Amino acid sequence: MITEYAVMTEDHIDEDAIRRAGEILKKGGLVAFPTETVYGLGGDALNPESSKKIYAAKGRPSDNPLIVHICRLEDTEKIAREIPDVYYKLAEAFWPGPMTMILNKSDLVPNETTGGLGTVAIRFPSNKIAHALIEAEGGFIAAPSANRSGRPSPTVAQYCREDLDGRVEMIIDGGQVGIGLESSIIDLTDGAPTILRPGYITKEMFEKVLGHVEVDHTIIDPKSHQVPKAPGMKYRHYAPKGDLKIVEGPRDKVAAYINSQVAAAETAGEKTGVICTEETKNLYHADCVKSAGTRTDEESIAHELFHVLREFDDENCTVMFSESFEGTGICMAIMNRLMKAAGQQVIRL
Ligand code: AMP
Ligand code: MG
Repeated sequence: MITEYAVMTEDHIDEDAIRRAGEILKKGGLVAFPTETVYGLGGDALNPESSKKIYAAKGRPSDNPLIVHICRLEDTEKIAREIPDVYYKLAEAFWPGPMTMILNKSDLVPNETTGGLGTVAIRFPSNKIAHALIEAEGGFIAAPSANRSGRPSPTVAQYCREDLDGRVEMIIDGGQVGIGLESSIIDLTDGAPTILRPGYITKEMFEKVLGHVEVDHTIIDPKSHQVPKAPGMKYRHYAPKGDLKIVEGPRDKVAAYINSQVAAAETAGEKTGVICTEETKNLYHADCVKSAGTRTDEESIAHELFHVLREFDDENCTVMFSESFEGTGICMAIMNRLMKAAGQQVIRL
């Protein structure tokens, strides 16, 4: 398959290309497109064959359900049942935006899209290119992140090309995404609203709207033997190809420890990398020292994390260490992704 590339920005949407992309989707084909979180790999959410193609293109296990992207709140009623009031409350607070809600699904949504679950994940993205595409498609695009399964989610179209060229009909290049981490997922089907995946919309932000919210046990305790309620959360995601460990502790101790490990690894012929911040980047000696952002603006770290993980691969790093970003707010999402990338390996000093 030859992949078509269309370049546009949110301010200058190429209407012809969007129309062509809409036709591709209606016919059961796949289109990668930008959203405000990461790039998505889109197919018709109501066509089981499209969902099967998404799993095949990504190399994703088919028990890992897809998020359905909408562009009109009222379309929810077509794909969901028993919609609680909190759904509309949260929609008003955070949509269009980086939040996904889980509801009971209607018969219109095929089991292939929901990985066999009786529930459906719904998101209303704010990116204008995504919005135009969903409209052109007819209203329901199933879209996981546009990476091959196990790789970091793509924050620029070039990463979609690396993973999906020749596997999808079209890739829409809309530049670098704004947030850089996937949406927060909140389940509204089972008692108290429960965060299944932390993201840009933080626990604190949800609680301002709803009072108390729960957090899936497996996020708080990543070594828990319980099964996460979001099936995708059980997989080792976002992984760079080399070995990554997180080092937690006082700043100077962390730097000294990492530098000694790096020196030993380099003697053994490894290519080394460090993830740190603007505040600490001068403390490290490694082949690739990468500042992910500044601790005074943690969103900057969220924005750069997947990019840094991809760069380690591009530079063939084999042994990597990261500072820890333990904390509240967006740090919960950063650590969740970093812990997966590190296969849960943490050294506490
Ligand atoms: P991605 O599309 O790559 O951002 O991943 C989507 C995430 O949403 C995965 O972790 C899925 O397991 C999760 N998800 C999608 N649908 C559901 C659902 N109905 N119930 C729980 N989690 C879901
Ligand atoms: Mg993903």
